[in-house]
Amino acid sequence: MVRPRFTGSFTQQPSIPDEAIAAAVAVMRSGRLHRYNIATGEESETMALEREYASWQGSRYCIAVASGGQAMQIALRAAGVLPQDAVLTNGFTLAPVPGAIAAVGCSPILIEITEDMVIDLDDLAVKARQTGARHLLLSHMRGHQCDMDRLVRLAADLKLAVIEDCAHTMGATWNGRRSGAFGLAGCFSTQTYKHLNSGEGGLLTSDDAEFIARATILSGSYMLYERHGAGPGKETFADIRLDTPNMSARMDNLRAALLRPQLRMIDESIRAWNERHDYLARRLAACSSIQMPHRPDAEAYVGSSIQFLVPGISSGAAREIVDRLAEVGVELKWFGAEQPVGFTSDHHSWRYAGAQSLPITDAILSGLFDMRLPLTFSLEDCALLADHILDTVAVLASKCDA
Ligand SMILES: *Cc1c(COP(=O)(O)O)cnc(C)c1O
Repeated sequence: MVRPRFTGSFTQQPSIPDEAIAAAVAVMRSGRLHRYNIATGEESETMALEREYASWQGSRYCIAVASGGQAMQIALRAAGVLPQDAVLTNGFTLAPVPGAIAAVGCSPILIEITEDMVIDLDDLAVKARQTGARHLLLSHMRGHQCDMDRLVRLAADLKLAVIEDCAHTMGATWNGRRSGAFGLAGCFSTQTYKHLNSGEGGLLTSDDAEFIARATILSGSYMLYERHGAGPGKETFADIRLDTPNMSARMDNLRAALLRPQLRMIDESIRAWNERHDYLARRLAACSSIQMPHRPDAEAYVGSSIQFLVPGISSGAAREIVDRLAEVGVELKWFGAEQPVGFTSDHHSWRYAGAQSLPITDAILSGLFDMRLPLTFSLEDCALLADHILDTVAVLASKCDA
């Protein structure tokens, strides 16, 4: 059967809400774009965002920064990581994660993943003991959370400080607790393809006063650390302000103005993402060649993208699935490609990290497909996407009944 070509754009996000545009225009009219450019007693947009985000996230503290990558770099430094330390992270994540570890002068120690795309906790325990690492940068890649109860127990046993990369889990929970609340800190991104869109931007949350004080100075607060919306009292900064370097990675009021109205609507966005994601997941799960990741009952996710495995598929067939779908307008990413493309790269492309042997992760990635689900796609769009994917996988992997 000949199906119509898919004409949606995988990179098209919804426009910025009018309320956010009006707030950004007001900031521009004021000329006060720098976050600390306020009259005494006034609250800047950035301060208000920090206050509102901490309250929504349920964290004691929050600082707004220039990007998710900066949130991670600052968190690692503020957690006391020193150059040459071993820092553990997932073998499957996005390039800014090992990049943040490299930025603090360390080499990432990559941990295997499971078929559910989460960190392998057994490999984590082995490599933590082998390397004596004290820090884990845990990436909830593509929104998949490992068994967070077991992770918390394991981290306590191994004396590992946990920093969560929540670029894909803003709004997700485990047993009702927000992703980002399970370790020392949570790092969030407000880059265009994440759950809030300010072009670039990041948020760092924690309940630890001294950690967030160090992070605040690192982010470039000068001695203006009291102009923060969800920071600790000034007594916490007494020594920290003199001991900590300023690394200039602030958010500005324009971005904060764009984000605050979006945060008020995020629960509706999450509902819309999950409606699209769950529809597609149901359709794809009906194909016996496709294996969907298992989603535990404890996990509430944000389906802003979808992943599936075609176990045992050859690289030739996988490439052909991607190519054939591209011809009908469907942009599927395949993590088994030899050359990094677009935003997608795997650990073989992180040569600065040193070659690491991850045979299980490699085998999983060779059959892993990934697709963005921007909120500009309708449910009818998702139906056509499912039809195209099932048609193509049926031909190239056999045994699919749509
Ligand atoms: C986007 C992303 C980041 C970093 O966010 P930026 O704001 O782009 O620096 C970190 N981790 C993952 C998994 C991401 O997808």
